[in-house]
Amino acid sequence: MSQAQTHAFQTEVKQLLRLMIHSLYSNPEVFLRELISNASDACDKLRFEALADDGLYEDDKDLRVRVTFDSEAKTVTIDDNGIGMNHEEVVEHIGTIAHSGTKAFLEQLEAGKKQDLQQIGQFGVGFYSAFIVADHVELTTRRAGVGAEHGVRWTSSGEGEYTIETVDKPERGTRIVLHLREDQQEFADDFRLRSVIRKYSDHINFPVQMWVAPKTEKDDEGNETEIPGRWETVNDANALWTRPKSEITDEEYTEFYKHVSHDWEPPLTWAHNQVEGKVEYTSLLYVPKRAPFDLFEPEQSHGVKLYVKRVFIMDDADKLMPRYLRFVRGVIDSADLPLNVSREILQSNRVLDTIRSGSVKRVLSLLEKMAKNEAEKYAEFWQTFGRVLKEGVGEDAANKEKIAGLLRFASTKGEGDEETVSLADYIERMPEGQDEIYYIIADSYQAALASPHLEIFRKKGIEVLLLSDRVDEWVMAHLTEFEGKTLKSVTKAKIDVDEEEEDESEEEKQEHEALIKRLKDTLGEEVKDVRRSRRLVESPACLVTDEGDVSLHLQRILEQAGQ
Ligand code: ADP
Ligand code: MG
Repeated sequence: MSQAQTHAFQTEVKQLLRLMIHSLYSNPEVFLRELISNASDACDKLRFEALADDGLYEDDKDLRVRVTFDSEAKTVTIDDNGIGMNHEEVVEHIGTIAHSGTKAFLEQLEAGKKQDLQQIGQFGVGFYSAFIVADHVELTTRRAGVGAEHGVRWTSSGEGEYTIETVDKPERGTRIVLHLREDQQEFADDFRLRSVIRKYSDHINFPVQMWVAPKTEKDDEGNETEIPGRWETVNDANALWTRPKSEITDEEYTEFYKHVSHDWEPPLTWAHNQVEGKVEYTSLLYVPKRAPFDLFEPEQSHGVKLYVKRVFIMDDADKLMPRYLRFVRGVIDSADLPLNVSREILQSNRVLDTIRSGSVKRVLSLLEKMAKNEAEKYAEFWQTFGRVLKEGVGEDAANKEKIAGLLRFASTKGEGDEETVSLADYIERMPEGQDEIYYIIADSYQAALASPHLEIFRKKGIEVLLLSDRVDEWVMAHLTEFEGKTLKSVTKAKIDVDEEEEDESEEEKQEHEALIKRLKDTLGEEVKDVRRSRRLVESPACLVTDEGDVSLHLQRILEQAGQ
């Protein structure tokens, strides 16, 4: 044993802790969901690592989570025989270092956006939830495969400090002892704990067990039999995705989502499919309600989990879903991949490619269905993830048309700056004779709306899509056609609506030509050409680019970027 060392929590962690303890008091039982969820993840990790090194099992292959209590001492203990942690991992993962997004989140909260409190779950604060019910937490852990003397004990009262020391721990895995707060002592109770486990952890892949004490039973004739004590599995312990759809309730789907996504809120929607054919697999894919704080960061924390015959393999976000669907959460399980599959093999595996492209199609049709049948939900989705989905137009050539169909735009015939108009809506409204889809890209919705380029379109009653997102330029460079109609920027020269002859006298003609010559002389190298146009109704002049030239908006972006 080493000397216990005391450390202070980072300021952000301290703040987060205080906040979460107070905000979650109304639903304190979620602490058990979070700790069991972590224990189950630890069992998943052990089973995966043991595929390469059987020795990690240390002759104890029956992975499980055990929940016990002491009604006198007022403690609840959660014990798993999963992967465990070493000293470094405890320091890094257990309540000491704040996520990159934590600070931003706290600032948001301080700015008064109290409704976002539920988002707290995103910040990897699952473990902290122990402090909702406990005023002293003791975690003892040892990583699988190392000697008993490498155990680590971490203790804290959640007030700002924690201690850490090296201890002996003969059994691998993690044990967490919660010393209940005075007002939370009802949890040191068999019935209470069982009902919470059933409520939140039925879908967990591993048995969650509680101890049944030995007892003596008397039959009718007065004979006594001793019934020994035993561990009883309290939850269903069946991987949820393997059960028939018809037998799974929405609540179960929702609880399972919270487990796989580490989200504290219910999902927006999901799709559960048993796919048969060349490659057989089951997928259960969810679309979250809210964007995770790291949606636009290069590294993503939780993606879709891959299982092979119910054994967890990995959750590398980019292997199972393309970047533009990086918000999707869930599991994919296949019996057609080898169990001893390595991450390297997965890089170029035909079975995995089939699963991946099939799953992408599932997600896109899920979104299509939502767009068609639940417009309000889809609008919510678009607001949250539209900017990410858009990237697919350039990233995924095979599904471009499908993705294009899911895009929503602001428009001169739409509802203000809300992005509600689909390309199909546009085509449906197109007047006889128009065969192109017109759009404009500007720095903002207001700038797009005020552009002189729109004057002639407005005069003729032709709809123009108003784009103002940074990625739009790139997206539209990849999207040149939809359902046989060409998409065209209004700033490109030679637009058909332009070509309309009017009578003018010889004198007027000469006057115009003289003006153009003067403008050309004055502007010189600054412009490529000066042309007469009839597209302006109120403004005297406007800048246009030739077809094939870099657009004005992109030029501006490039200039800003110093190119
Ligand atoms: P999250 O589960 O979202 O990562 P948590 O706060 O619940 O956030 O847990 C933080 C990390 O601590 C986990 O990712 C894991 O690495 C580690 N951890 C927590 N509980 C256990 C456990 N029972 N066994 C092993 N590692 C654990
Ligand atoms: Mg967790």
